Amino acid sequence: MPNRRRNETSSTGDESNPSERPFNLSAASREQGPGGIAHETGELHRLLVESVQDYAIFALDPQGYILSWNPGAERFKGYTGDEIIGKHFSIFYPQERIATGFPEFELREAARAGRFEDEGWRIRKDGTRFWASVVITALRDSTGTLVGYAKVTRDLTERRAAEEALRLSEERFRLLVQGVRDYAIFMLDPTGHVATWNEGAQRIKQYTADEIIGKHFSIFYPPEPIAEKFPQYELKEAERTGHFEDEGWRIRKDGSRFWANVVITALRDSDGHLIGFSKVTRDLTERKAAEERAIEDARRVAAEEAARVAADASRGRVEQLQQLTALLATAHTIAEITKIVFTEGFRTFGIDAGALAALDASREFVQLIGDAGYEHLPGRYRRINRGEQMPINTVLETGQALVFGSRAERDARYPAISEVLAPYESTVVIPLGSRGRLIGALAMHRREAGAPSEDTLAFMQSFAQQCGQALERAQLYEAEQSARRDAEEARARADEANRAKSEFLAAMSHELRTPLNAIGGYAELIDLGVRGPVTPDQHEDLRRIQRSQQHLLGIINDLLNFSRIDAGQIDYDFADVTLDEIFDAVVQMIAPQAAAKSIQFESRACGPGVVVFADRAKTEQILLNLLSNAVKFTASGGRMTLRCARVGERDVTIEVADSGSGIAPDQLERIFEPFVQVGRSLTSTREGAGLGLAISRELARAMGGEISVTSTLGVGSTFTLKLPRSISGAKAPSPAGGA
Ligand code: ADP
Repeated sequence: MPNRRRNETSSTGDESNPSERPFNLSAASREQGPGGIAHETGELHRLLVESVQDYAIFALDPQGYILSWNPGAERFKGYTGDEIIGKHFSIFYPQERIATGFPEFELREAARAGRFEDEGWRIRKDGTRFWASVVITALRDSTGTLVGYAKVTRDLTERRAAEEALRLSEERFRLLVQGVRDYAIFMLDPTGHVATWNEGAQRIKQYTADEIIGKHFSIFYPPEPIAEKFPQYELKEAERTGHFEDEGWRIRKDGSRFWANVVITALRDSDGHLIGFSKVTRDLTERKAAEERAIEDARRVAAEEAARVAADASRGRVEQLQQLTALLATAHTIAEITKIVFTEGFRTFGIDAGALAALDASREFVQLIGDAGYEHLPGRYRRINRGEQMPINTVLETGQALVFGSRAERDARYPAISEVLAPYESTVVIPLGSRGRLIGALAMHRREAGAPSEDTLAFMQSFAQQCGQALERAQLYEAEQSARRDAEEARARADEANRAKSEFLAAMSHELRTPLNAIGGYAELIDLGVRGPVTPDQHEDLRRIQRSQQHLLGIINDLLNFSRIDAGQIDYDFADVTLDEIFDAVVQMIAPQAAAKSIQFESRACGPGVVVFADRAKTEQILLNLLSNAVKFTASGGRMTLRCARVGERDVTIEVADSGSGIAPDQLERIFEPFVQVGRSLTSTREGAGLGLAISRELARAMGGEISVTSTLGVGSTFTLKLPRSISGAKAPSPAGGA
């Protein structure tokens, strides 16, 4: 190693090569003599200097010629000691520096002030430059005479390059920031006053740097956030967390607003002191508008989609409703309706449990007519008193549907049923009406919470309306069915009773007639004197016996007749009958009775052409009955008539009128019922069983005719018998007036 060699050389030839000797050390050693402390110290310094590699340390004579050289100098400058010692130090300077006499200036200054410091470009042996920090110190001996200079040079090229790079990058950054147009980038001092301004800031906020630097940054905020001290809060937050980001309205110089994204960053020096804030603001007005447009578009598309889905759904619903309605229309019975409601209806609406209830006839109770899905429904809910606090009662009172989207809401209003309905989160109860009258309610529960949408509720209500109508139809149908069943049963019972009665009457009449005939026969035998002579008194008694027997036989015959008619056992022998012939026959029988009671009896013939189509005997029987009643109920001296009142195209009306007791209006129809005798008491002496008119009417009707009556109490009665005219019979001239 050359240094080592030179050191060795230096130590061996100390005096012979004074140029090799370090000047001040050699001077000191010369003064204090070899082997002294000064020599020791000088030698140490020499070794120190010579070993230093990071500094070029060398001596110049007073003119600037190089006297010594160390390894650091060799390393920096590229010259060896041999090459450079004796050369002028200006060799290290660039040409322009030499031209201005700068090296000499340095020496002069160092000589003058004792020291000169400089940084600048220097030249290596290979011609390359390096950035050097140079300290030149004037060296003087004890007398003050300048003996030379010490020059210490440091190579700062690397530091210089780093510094330069930093400077350049800072400059570039500054220019970059300055030139950014899309962002406002500026600095605030720790109190929030604007310290720098860039082009973007000017463009966005419209202030020039001159106008805004030094102003407080709250100038960019609208009044509301200022009132809330929001700007201060931003800085505090940035200071606390290092960073604050926000979006909001900010104000330009012209007062217009813009939507800004703001990032504030706290700036601290190396000791951690806050030196200010950087603020980057972006104008998002456009972006926000675009976003809003996008949101608006999305919203519109969503709304359109929802409308389309709803339209589809409602079309689907209309179809579903039509199906449900069609199903309900086929339901006749309540059981059929409940089945449709609880299966099809509940499936359509996604119902988990529910009940159909109807007001009972008294409208004081609500009867559950069907339920489905309940986990447990106690029996007491099958019949609900109208006074109870129940949703069904509420809808029946208000006529409005009840909707509960949550259990809590429902339980708060109807605590009594909270337990039964515990498994269900939501409930809808809809009144059922028909023809403007509430007749029941439909309750529906879901395990899922949430009220149905308006659409669904409307759909449910339409369904409920159909249910109400179907329900009323079914109620009417079932009521009618049961009434019909009742009537049929009653008729069957009545028929049965009638038959039993008729059979009884027939049997009784038959059984009574035999002994009565025997009574009549034996009385006649005695009266004829067959058993021996009969006194006049005995004759009289026997006639009474015979009359009573006849009378009784008449009654029994009536009974038998009636029972036969009633049992449908009478045969009719229809024929064309001339009325005058019948009149003749009955007048012969009645005239003596009327005469006996001094009743004036008038009979007017109908004329030979008046012919009816009837059973001759039955017609006689009817007229006999009417005429004998007239005799019976007309007092002595009264009047009675038999006549043809009207001869029509199709029928003939025969009249039996009397001036008798008359019949009360309320009794007029009753007298045709069997066994009815007006005013009859147990002590009544009037005869008969009250069957005559009943039999007569039955007979007349059986022949296609009718019997009716008009009467005035105390004035008299008029019975009319209408019979069909014979179709084949001769067309009679009007006979009504003929006597
Ligand atoms: P009966 O004559 O055997 O009582 P009817 O059936 O012939 O039974 O008559 C029923 C009742 O009608 C009579 O009891 C009487 O009260 C009333 N009645 C019938 N005909 C007359 C009449 N011409 N005038 C007043 N009352 C009559």
